[in-house]
Amino acid sequence: MTKDKDVEGIDEHISDFNRFYILTILYQNPAHGYSIINQFKTQVKKEISPSLVYPFLQELEEKGYVKHTAKMVGEKRRKTFELTPTGRELCNNLFKRFTELVSTAFETSLQTCTHCKTQIYKTVHQETINNTEKTFCCTHCAQAYKQKQKNNTKQPT
Ligand SMILES: [Zn+2]
Repeated sequence: MTKDKDVEGIDEHISDFNRFYILTILYQNPAHGYSIINQFKTQVKKEISPSLVYPFLQELEEKGYVKHTAKMVGEKRRKTFELTPTGRELCNNLFKRFTELVSTAFETSLQTCTHCKTQIYKTVHQETINNTEKTFCCTHCAQAYKQKQKNNTKQPT
């Protein structure tokens, strides 16, 4: 398996979750600095310091993952940051790797329907059948399973 140089490179930038979240925000839409800070607050539900955001954006820009366009808003020059194609690709790889990690961890907590084998992660229907607690995705599966058990126990004459 060949190692992806770009994906390897991201690790030195993404040293914590705050930086990871900033990337997920940039991935959704181009944004200026304080908009990133606001979206961070809304989406992540915590405050982030501008002293983390701006140097990180600059760092990403130096590496060619982010570029900015400047626009005059009144007296102020406002920079809008967006991911470059390289930056987007980097995020794709990063999110993919992250998703794989999370789903691997998450799958261990999933239960499987006794009847249809669907993986269940939310409301679970449980029934005790033959003194064993069985898990189902819905009552219909529980019914179907019990019916099947009944049929199986019937000996052919
Ligand atoms: Zn089921």
